[in-house]
Amino acid sequence: MIDLHPLKLELVERIGWLIRLRWVAAAGTLVGIAVARLVEPALPVLPLVLVTAAIVFYNTLFLLYARYLWRRRGTGLRRRRSPIFAAVQIVLDLFALTALLHFSGGIENPFGVFLLFHVIIASILLPRLASFGVALLASTLYAGLAFSELAGWLPHIHLPQLADPWHYANPTYVAAHVTAVVLTLWLAAAMASSVAERLRRRTQELLQANQVCEINRSELAEMNERLRQLDAARTQFIVMVAHELRAPMGAIISALNLVLGGYAPPEKQREVLERAQARAYELLDLIRDLLELVRARRIEGPAQGVPVRAEKVLENVLGLLRVEAESKGLSIEVKVPPDLPPVLAGEDSLRSVWTNLISNAIKYNRPGGRVTITLTQDGDRVVGSVEDTGIGIAREDMPRLFEEFFRSEQAKAMVQRGTGVGLAIVKRTVESYGGRVWVESELGKGSKFSFSLPKAPDIQAAAPPGEIQKADQA
Ligand code: ADP
Repeated sequence: MIDLHPLKLELVERIGWLIRLRWVAAAGTLVGIAVARLVEPALPVLPLVLVTAAIVFYNTLFLLYARYLWRRRGTGLRRRRSPIFAAVQIVLDLFALTALLHFSGGIENPFGVFLLFHVIIASILLPRLASFGVALLASTLYAGLAFSELAGWLPHIHLPQLADPWHYANPTYVAAHVTAVVLTLWLAAAMASSVAERLRRRTQELLQANQVCEINRSELAEMNERLRQLDAARTQFIVMVAHELRAPMGAIISALNLVLGGYAPPEKQREVLERAQARAYELLDLIRDLLELVRARRIEGPAQGVPVRAEKVLENVLGLLRVEAESKGLSIEVKVPPDLPPVLAGEDSLRSVWTNLISNAIKYNRPGGRVTITLTQDGDRVVGSVEDTGIGIAREDMPRLFEEFFRSEQAKAMVQRGTGVGLAIVKRTVESYGGRVWVESELGKGSKFSFSLPKAPDIQAAAPPGEIQKADQA
């Protein structure tokens, strides 16, 4: 909505101007009477002074009322009352000027054209219709005065120095004179109000444009801030990646230098090269995880999921990881209800989530331990959990667990190989499909990682398998 406040305030300010102008007009009238009396002794001073006194009186009342409105500023009263207040002032002024004209010669008085001022002021301050109302009233009063004096309903005061005595009593002259004045008043109303109206519209358009600019500016500032944050996060990410890549690379190079420079005795060379190989594998793991992380990071905002059977993906993943678990003497238990609905996600993404969580549960478990995997429905969500009986996580590490490259001291002591990126991938992936990830753990006892994903709507559950592909390609 456009704020028209400034337009209305303009009128509020003009009220004060009208009142000040009236003091000047009253003073001018008194001076005018004194001067005119010198030229025209027939002028009746008393009624003219009385009308001027009436003007001063009602202007004082207007001043008091304007002050009252000023004290109530901020309540909206001033803005609401100003149009009618201005109209009342203009109407009273018209009556006062007609009375002054009557006592100073009627149509013989050339100051009748002063009626024009009121019409113009009304056209500038008030809506178009109101300015025509003022023109109508001014014409009626002037014509009424002229014709009443012509008909003898009102006494005529003749000004012998100014006009011929037969002028006011000549119907043709009165009609021509009145027509000229009335036409002038109406044309002035039409022209002035049209210009004022156009100006008002322009001001309105300007205000509107100004507001749009304001809105755009704040949106831009917001976007700018978001971009700045994104840029800072990206730079930080690059720095972290470089740092993580440097450590294994440095180790590989120094191992190779040892062998190539002949610093390692022949019986040690194999061991040194094996160490370099282990670090190279570590580097490969890191690069693979980083690529996956970048893929998960690329998903800006919510990703478009398709119906995927979480238990089917789980089965697939377990087929690959079971050997690793068995080699560590771990037992794997899977609990899936028979009527589980599909979830809305991407198949490859879900595979990555399961792989990361289950391989951690295997990696950070103790020989002979247990991994329990469950899938349950919770309202319109499907919740997957991977629970282990491994090393657990210290309370202070919990908040940093899903940060990129974070690895706990216990994890580092137990398994050297690790990138600290897996859980960050899990979190980003699950959240991109509108899900959530959380963890419960006790140091030394075990951990339980859970995630929830929205269940697919029933109609979509029947989507052809080809659809599944698309979600991951997106
Ligand atoms: P990585 O396993 O390569 O170190 P992740 O991002 O998968 O990286 O895990 C980050 C850290 O979270 C791990 O280093 C470890 O400290 C902790 N963590 C993850 N899963 C488990 C778990 N099942 N038990 C104990 N700690 C875990």
